[in-house]
Amino acid sequence: MVSTRLTARKNITLTPDTPVTYIKGVGPKRAAVLAKVGIASLQDLLYHFPRRYLDRSTITAIAHLKIGQEATVVGKIISQNLVRRYRRQFFQVVIDDGSGALNAVWFNGINYIRNAFEIGETVAMSGKVEFYNGLRFIHPDYDKFETEEWELTLHTARIIALYPSTAELKEVGLDSRGFRRLLRPVFEKFKPCFDEILPREILAELKLLPINTALLQIHFPDNADDLAAAQIRFKFEELFFLQLLLAVRRAGIKAVQKPLRYSTAGTLLKQIYKKLPFELTNAQKKVIHEIWDDLQSPNVMNRLLQGDVGSGKTVVALLCASIAIGNGFQAAVMAPTEILAEQHYRVLRQLGEVAGIKVRLLIGGQKKRERQEILAEIEGGQAELVVGTHALIQENVNFKNLALVIIDEQHRFGVVQRSALIEKGYYPDVLVMTATPIPRTLSLTLYGDMDISVLNEMPAGKGRIITRAVTADQIGTVYDYIAGQLQEGNQAYVVYPLIEKSAKSDLQAAIQGYEYLSTKVFQQFKLALLHGGMSTAEKETVMQNFIQGTVNLLVSTTVIEVGVDNQNATIMLVENAERFGLTQIHQLRGRIGRGRRNGVCILVERKVTELGHQRIATILSTIDGFEISEADLKLRGPGEFYGTKQHGYLKMKIADPLIDIEILKSARERAFSLLKNDPHLRRPENQPIRAHLMQQYANQIDFSNIL
Ligand code: ADP
Ligand code: MG
Repeated sequence: MVSTRLTARKNITLTPDTPVTYIKGVGPKRAAVLAKVGIASLQDLLYHFPRRYLDRSTITAIAHLKIGQEATVVGKIISQNLVRRYRRQFFQVVIDDGSGALNAVWFNGINYIRNAFEIGETVAMSGKVEFYNGLRFIHPDYDKFETEEWELTLHTARIIALYPSTAELKEVGLDSRGFRRLLRPVFEKFKPCFDEILPREILAELKLLPINTALLQIHFPDNADDLAAAQIRFKFEELFFLQLLLAVRRAGIKAVQKPLRYSTAGTLLKQIYKKLPFELTNAQKKVIHEIWDDLQSPNVMNRLLQGDVGSGKTVVALLCASIAIGNGFQAAVMAPTEILAEQHYRVLRQLGEVAGIKVRLLIGGQKKRERQEILAEIEGGQAELVVGTHALIQENVNFKNLALVIIDEQHRFGVVQRSALIEKGYYPDVLVMTATPIPRTLSLTLYGDMDISVLNEMPAGKGRIITRAVTADQIGTVYDYIAGQLQEGNQAYVVYPLIEKSAKSDLQAAIQGYEYLSTKVFQQFKLALLHGGMSTAEKETVMQNFIQGTVNLLVSTTVIEVGVDNQNATIMLVENAERFGLTQIHQLRGRIGRGRRNGVCILVERKVTELGHQRIATILSTIDGFEISEADLKLRGPGEFYGTKQHGYLKMKIADPLIDIEILKSARERAFSLLKNDPHLRRPENQPIRAHLMQQYANQIDFSNIL
């Protein structure tokens, strides 16, 4: 272990691991609340970074406030009252900063707020300036100060840190001021003496602040420059260790030597290629070459293939699978849902048959005898290309010689597949395909342990997709238009949102929508309903009927989201479009205009909000998936974008991979080169790094077979 420690002057030694209870002011009660937000040790406390800062330059004098402006003022509380007017009551606090007075008003949480302030106290309040019986803020954010603390700030360039807090923390006095009160003596009495965890050369080369200076400056900055330097240091530190984790993971995967080796590209590839009804795009050719290089390498492939909906990933998958099969091996394609597995199966079987490839489907709901036969063929090696869901690796399925696994739509699937495969004793090459165009900055963090290929070119000769937004009052016109289109023999989708939180009521919406549309709006047409609650057989029948054209209009939840291919479907109506993510709508509309004709996508906004409107405007403005995902990411943040559960390590304390792009790149470069020079982190000078990495990410990764 490294002996990073904080040494007190009077013989008291605090290490980063010292429990917070050793700090003056932290009793069992506070310790319990701190533990809830993940602060147990001194290191946790010092790495509880401020959320923002206040200084003279960010404060507005009350006399200079403009109505409508977002502003922060600092003053003393001069009065506070519970006010009853008609039937309403509210709590009003008046603060005065010497230039004028302002009312702060709370309609909610009165019981809490009435005990929050004392007359004469110095507080900062932030909010939108309104005018109603004088200047006022409604429900402002507030922070308290020691009067001296504030006076110093007023008269010097001093900057005050404001900390993230929770209602529970505030209840035990740990608001921003509470944190400053705890931390100040830590820095004043026990001059912090943490061991440096970043390599010296990197510190010198990038002129990063040493750890102890940076810790002090991030909490009690001397001035704006020192604060900025401290922030850069910790952003770099955070991103460096994340990238190092990814580098270690990547090295761990790459270290595996393939048990099955390729001798030739095989003749199957050529046979299929020659019979394709179209010419491959240059992007498809380039990607196939990249994958072929990986297949020939003695080290296992771990590659992500990104390509917008319709960019032609399926044929790339098939051509790569045909290389494996041509070498006498088996390949598997896994899809996130049974519907998609079935569709992949249909397409792959059709394309693969020309080269005599034996394609098999394995999903739940197959008859027992049929299943037994398929399992036997998989075990015997006669099944050359096996398509299915994750059941392919979870259940009692044994492959004879599985060399290549292709996973469609990784972000639904999770990253666990590889370990599941390894547990079964397989070390196949893995290709993950996704239609979600992931902005580069994010892919460096999310998929930083993979090699990445991009299909950045759409096949020519495809129809365009035209997107329009309507509000609820225009729905009649829209229904008329759709009826006209159905009359002409076109097919349509009507999609209802399905959001995990309230899956039941959402399902209800689709069912009710179906009933309404089939009895009241489109009586003369054949409608069908598709949702996740149906059995595989039911879904299959519905999809078949829709693809064969006996169903004119398909009412559905988002189960049709990815990959469904019915070239005759040219219209899509998205209900409650404001409830979908941008990327999701983009993928939905990729279902139409798959043939040569144009597709029309109509977004119905039922509940108009500003954010919802902004998002829909983005969808209307472009059909470039990358642009949309960037916008989605900015509007929703990375957590929402991918679902936080799966990507827990993205929860960063200080760095923002979307903003701190330059720091991210530099951290990545250094982390990867460090590991290249010392693949197992065994050099003495790298011991602090090794220890810190293992401590930080102990629950993220099993280091045992890597470091
Ligand atoms: P996705 O990347 O969304 O999975 P698909 O693989 O389903 O896209 O391809 C979409 C459609 O485009 C399919 O009908 C496929 O046959 C067709 N396609 C694929 N590549 C080409 C190409 N190079 N030229 C023309 N059409 C193509
Ligand atoms: Mg696809």
